[in-house]
Amino acid sequence: MSEHVTRIDDLPIRDELRGKSPYGAPQLDVPVRLNTNENPYPLPEPLVARIAERVTEAARELNRYPDRDAVELRTELARYLTRTGGHQVTKDQVWAANGSNEVLQQLLQTFGGPGRTAIGFEPSYSMHALIARGTGTGWISGPRNDDFTIDVAAAERAIAEHRPHVVFITTPNNPTGNAVPAEAVLALYEAAQAARPSLVVVDEAYVEFSHGDSLLPLLDGRPHLVISRTMSKAFGAAGLRLGYLAADPAVVDAVQLVRLPYHLSSVTQATALAALEHTDTLLGYVDQLKRERDRLVAELRAIGYDVTESDANFVQFGRFEDAHAIWRKILDRGVLVRDNGVPGWLRVSAGTPAENDAFLDAVRDLKKELSA
Ligand SMILES: *Cc1c(COP(=O)(O)O)cnc(C)c1O
Repeated sequence: MSEHVTRIDDLPIRDELRGKSPYGAPQLDVPVRLNTNENPYPLPEPLVARIAERVTEAARELNRYPDRDAVELRTELARYLTRTGGHQVTKDQVWAANGSNEVLQQLLQTFGGPGRTAIGFEPSYSMHALIARGTGTGWISGPRNDDFTIDVAAAERAIAEHRPHVVFITTPNNPTGNAVPAEAVLALYEAAQAARPSLVVVDEAYVEFSHGDSLLPLLDGRPHLVISRTMSKAFGAAGLRLGYLAADPAVVDAVQLVRLPYHLSSVTQATALAALEHTDTLLGYVDQLKRERDRLVAELRAIGYDVTESDANFVQFGRFEDAHAIWRKILDRGVLVRDNGVPGWLRVSAGTPAENDAFLDAVRDLKKELSA
């Protein structure tokens, strides 16, 4: 065997990938894991049984390629959006892929790419910038206020100046938790249309946890608006890998130019359809998680931490001189939270009541140590 170890940077990789590290939260074996905004509740047994049934049916036809257009699944996703989103959505307005990350990648492959740019208002979901890099799209980091709200006037100026081809707005925002008001989204959409026009992607991965409503009704009369959703968070199905978008049917037609043929396996489609049959049970956990989120906000404030207003299933708390050192101290107490690299702040996902108690005990204890 050769002793020679090839390093990534010895390979003839693209220049923009040199020296970079892959995205990913540490997957550590810790008693309480509150770091990736997953739903802490396993799927209910009747749903597990229904998945087994539908996957068995799909298995009998695995010699064939899946439905390339995922028509049944898109129809059911449209039905779900219509029922919960306050807006009539048809299957022609819905597209699905392996996680919303793949949806976003297809959007950037279609509307971004070499010689084009995308803007996001940071701190926000870091995958937007990483998918931009992976698709050769230039990335522009737009501003936020100190309280993590979007400074609309500054954002409008940035859009007018850079004329990006794609604008990302995450609401509720990850990792800060706060929602973006509809008026702000409308103002940025108008600015983006005046500048180019560009595609405006509203990432609503956490919208089911919000105190407010989905922005789906804004799709009416706005052909360059896209709402991106996922089954990874509220549906409690992160392992399924199913994301989707709602937009003008022309956007759905456009992403088909770049999607790989048969990108969504029959097994994935069958599993997602089974989960959608159990929407009401799955969304029942959402109310419980929202209550736990509100409890985390209240108790963290009572302990004396700063907390950002949250419309998601996680809470950003601080402020710390050295957030990473605090992350480590919480980990030493058996609780894994997330250091997203926002200076002074950490993020904790709402878990089960017992997990949240363990987290609150840990940070209460830590507060004593820090003020001792
Ligand atoms: C978790 C998350 C997603 C979900 O990605 P999937 O690929 O669907 O699991 C998308 N956007 C944001 C802002 C997220 O936090």
